[in-house]
Amino acid sequence: AKADGKSRWALYDPERNAREVARFTLSATMPAALERDEFYVDYQPLVRLEDSTVVGVEALVRWQHPEFGRLAPDRFIELAEETGLIVPLGRWVLRKACEQARRWLVEFGDSAPFVSVNLAVRQSRDPELVRDVRRILDECELPPTHLQLELTESAIMGTADEPLEALRSLSDMGVRIAIDDFGTGYSNLAYLRHLPVHELKVAGSFMEGLRAADGADPVDAQIVATLVQLAHALDLTVTAEGVETPAQAERLRRIGCDAGQGWFFARPGPPEDIDRLLHGD
Ligand code: C2E
Repeated sequence: AKADGKSRWALYDPERNAREVARFTLSATMPAALERDEFYVDYQPLVRLEDSTVVGVEALVRWQHPEFGRLAPDRFIELAEETGLIVPLGRWVLRKACEQARRWLVEFGDSAPFVSVNLAVRQSRDPELVRDVRRILDECELPPTHLQLELTESAIMGTADEPLEALRSLSDMGVRIAIDDFGTGYSNLAYLRHLPVHELKVAGSFMEGLRAADGADPVDAQIVATLVQLAHALDLTVTAEGVETPAQAERLRRIGCDAGQGWFFARPGPPEDIDRLLHGD
């Protein structure tokens, strides 16, 4: 009876109603927001654990909403996927990120970091994807090797042939392909070797067990160590996400993980934050 009462009450839940209204408002105003330049991109470094070099930089989109303030992607990416706006929004992020990567390339030459951009499922299935990426790279005068595209396991595994073909073309061009949040989905590990993938990004959820200086969770540590071994056997690089403490970074380094990303190194921020890191100040 309690559950019944609860679900009936949920129909009139004012908070839920407010959330629905907010969702509706957000999705309705998103196209105009893109025109009005309300979106912007923050950057977070991927740091090589061996020598603390910034090898890559992830582009993370945000929405400076005139009414709701600064919105994290969790608030609007799913909506953008539902409405299809993710395709133009994703293209906009890609262009921004490539323009920024070009600036780093001009300033730092070959040692400039690659820029890593999230690709939503819908984008990965967009027939224009390869053409769009090629055009943006051309227009930004960015070598394909300075771009990485991050796809989730579900976007990349068990996909139909066409999106996989697109990823192959991109990979053949020299664009790096990474699997995001690795370890949280249902990856067919054997299948990995047939995919055009260069990097695994191990999900932050595994870092919890590596947190303490002593008494780290042996299972999490073993999972990460195994993923690193597997990745290296397949000639892939590994970045650990969500690294928050020096103990985690040190453990990951000893496990042989290539790079780390997380608050321990830097929070996501404006490109000037990355400039300072690259200048070593
Ligand atoms: P992701 O690709 O897994 O990005 C990493 C997320 O982890 C970011 O959240 C980042 O702020 C957060 N993070 C970084 N370091 C730490 C840490 O040490 N501890 C913890 N707890 N979190 C950390 P953010 O910026 O909120 O982005 C969330 C997700 O939204 C991203 O997850 C990505 O899936 C998606 N996203 C962001 N930008 C884009 C985009 O341009 N296109 C698409 N399709 N998705 C995007």
